Amino acid sequence: MKTLSSVCVYCGASSRVADVHKEAAHALGDGLARRGIRMIYGGGRVGLMGIAADAALAAGGEVVGIIPEHIQSAEVEHTGLTELHVVDSMHTRKRMMVERSDAFVILPGGLGTLDEAFEILTWRQLQLHDKPIVFADVDGYWRPLLGLIDHMVAQGFARIDRSTLYRVADQIDGVFEALETMPGASRPDQPKKL
Ligand code: AMP
Repeated sequence: MKTLSSVCVYCGASSRVADVHKEAAHALGDGLARRGIRMIYGGGRVGLMGIAADAALAAGGEVVGIIPEHIQSAEVEHTGLTELHVVDSMHTRKRMMVERSDAFVILPGGLGTLDEAFEILTWRQLQLHDKPIVFADVDGYWRPLLGLIDHMVAQGFARIDRSTLYRVADQIDGVFEALETMPGASRPDQPKKL
């Protein structure tokens, strides 16, 4: 089992969501810190992003935020982080988040979270990385999306072996278990450029 030192958290920036999602974000941030795992995320103070970061910091963890300057005000950058990187674009943000992380957790979120999730899933499919990816399916939030992926496979538009591409956990404890046990994808001889 590979030891994880940094985990990237993708999640929603909205605060108008059910308490069950806020509780999951808190549990994830807290759980990362208690395991000595650095949290890498988008650097905002809003929504589940802020809740997870605050929980990790409150439990004594390290949190690294990466935020593009053009959305600094919309997402209200978190000023109490271990490190905050203000970058020039969304692309730089996403690349840095991937480079600095050993694994990825996808909490419930909106279109931005989906964009990030699919980028990291397709990059694993293309063997650009072999880092574990876990959907935190809190309250069945990702069920329609996972159903859509099954539909794509059934219709011949995707050849995805779920067990090698991603894991799904419906509890935060299960997320940690999945992160620790998910094997790497088969490695290319030469690492490709992200
Ligand atoms: P959301 O899931 O829409 O609440 O967004 C969560 C995070 O994803 C925010 O920090 C967004 O800035 C970020 N994000 C990443 N890529 C995108 C994108 N293509 N469109 C919108 N938001 C994005």
